[in-house]
Amino acid sequence: MKAGVYYKNTDVRVEEIPVPEIGDNDVLIKVKACGICGSDIMEWYRIKKAPLVLGHELTGEVVDVGKNIVHLKKKDRVFAIHHVPCEECIECIKGHQSACKSFQTINNFSPGGFSEYLRVSGKSVYTGIMKIPDEISYEEGTFIEPLGTVLRGQRASEIRPGESVLVIGCGLSGLLHIKCAKALGAGLIIGCDIEDNRLEAAKKFGAEVTLKPDDDFNSLLRQKNNGRLADKIIVCAGSVSALELALNSIERGGTVLIFAVPKPEEMVKVDFNPHWRNDITIKTSYGSTPLDHIQAIDLLKNKRITVDDMITHQLPLTDIQNGFNIACNPSGCLKVLIKLDN
Ligand SMILES: [Zn+2]
Ligand SMILES: [Zn+2]
Repeated sequence: MKAGVYYKNTDVRVEEIPVPEIGDNDVLIKVKACGICGSDIMEWYRIKKAPLVLGHELTGEVVDVGKNIVHLKKKDRVFAIHHVPCEECIECIKGHQSACKSFQTINNFSPGGFSEYLRVSGKSVYTGIMKIPDEISYEEGTFIEPLGTVLRGQRASEIRPGESVLVIGCGLSGLLHIKCAKALGAGLIIGCDIEDNRLEAAKKFGAEVTLKPDDDFNSLLRQKNNGRLADKIIVCAGSVSALELALNSIERGGTVLIFAVPKPEEMVKVDFNPHWRNDITIKTSYGSTPLDHIQAIDLLKNKRITVDDMITHQLPLTDIQNGFNIACNPSGCLKVLIKLDN
């Protein structure tokens, strides 16, 4: 079978590798579509393990199941994820499933989503594979994971009806946050980015106000928001300046959700005195867990959140290098999908 093997962002090769064999507890999926995630093109993060087959935002059809598998069968349309929480450790029991050590270290995919066939094993077979209803296309289903991560973040940020929400960084995850905040009844939604095309997308998908992160930011924000800063801020840009902006633009009693982080060892210098006095909550959100995927499937099925309007490029596996090139240029795309219509 063909697979897209990642060496670095500018070197993703289509190679011929064997179809993975399945054991009694495994499932074989014929991949139909797989999204290129922002984390796939974070070269410093990916290159450590290269060469490897990336791809974790996928849907496909079950083509074979091990003899112990009774809950899935051939021809099932499914979503699958490479890591799931163990549901047994203290972190899982306390509800911090993405802090679970198994979740963070075990990868149940072989080889990965950018391949014609994919073996899923371990606990992912049970809580990581979910059937997708007919109302969700294979292409839309590739958003179950990214939307799941966003829903997890929205839950952590506890957006209440009418609250103002500032999203810093309007790439795909920021735009999904804007869509979700709108669906959940936020008040004024403000999108912030340095790229004009992303601010246009923020407006299109639900932000009433868009701002660039310049010196007048807080006064412009107050002008647009009844004299107030933002009640909730979601940081979706992995930079020090984005985090600093968030910590400086949060209203009294507000919450900053750190959804994207700067590179390791990039430090943010903060005077926490105002946050301490003003009852500011700072939270983080990483990854998505089975609950988030269930919610994402329901929202997509019932069209509470639409995602087909965010797919800007669809390319065949043989063109995966081009897909990575497009995804690496933030001004030219939103979601890039690799399609495997074999
Ligand atoms: Zn992803
Ligand atoms: Zn656990």
